Amino acid sequence: MRILLSNDDGILAPGLSALHAAVASAGEVTVAAPDSPQSAAGHAITLTHPLSVQRVKLAGGFEGMSIDGRPADCVRLAIRNLMDHRPDLVLSGINAGNNVGINVFYSGTVAAAAEAAMFGIAAVAFSASMEGEVDFARIGALCRSVLDCLLAKGLSPGELVSVNIPALLPGQPRGVKVVRQSTAGIEDLYDCRKDEAGNECYHIGTEYSFGPCDDDTDVIALGQGYITVTPLHIDLTNHKQLKSLQSCNWPDKLG
Ligand code: MN
Repeated sequence: MRILLSNDDGILAPGLSALHAAVASAGEVTVAAPDSPQSAAGHAITLTHPLSVQRVKLAGGFEGMSIDGRPADCVRLAIRNLMDHRPDLVLSGINAGNNVGINVFYSGTVAAAAEAAMFGIAAVAFSASMEGEVDFARIGALCRSVLDCLLAKGLSPGELVSVNIPALLPGQPRGVKVVRQSTAGIEDLYDCRKDEAGNECYHIGTEYSFGPCDDDTDVIALGQGYITVTPLHIDLTNHKQLKSLQSCNWPDKLG
């Protein structure tokens, strides 16, 4: 099996090494990741400069392609140009921090996997809580166990799955829950300060919380200490509203 690994925390991130170590025995692994941290890059791609690629040797004892782009750039460039063969599976992470609820939209980790899904390749994004004990080897082993279950069940081409590992507190993880993505809003605050020139500057706070979430969602299950598995899809269409809008009386000609 050909596996492409990427992330959004950058090629030097410990989560990437941990994922590499955890999945190296599952197939032939290629690494293509951003040369700098790209958290919250979402699904951005680079239009402002050509992407430069450096082949680097990493501390984990493996090689990777370091790219001065966004997570989605790395995956699409690797699939289109850098790999000799199209990968069978794309893995992203392990992100330093969870990606549940609407954070999925901001996440570069999920975007890297989603980019692969757009190519019709099965992809899994891994994100882990950085609270409690942060033992990347243990987190990596948990990710591998989840991946093995997903592979045993079988991932179809273009299938996209987001996996979140809870804080490794005593008694956690409590198991695995397959849950839907919460759509609750994020309650965060911008802190206004003045810069040296006296201009107002808004800093996004590091602390945030979600608004009320339904019980059967990723946010709740993760908070209860479960590993969460959430299947996602690229189709953002609201199918119910599609029917309702199609049934409207649209004029034959506008303007
Ligand atoms: Mn990140």
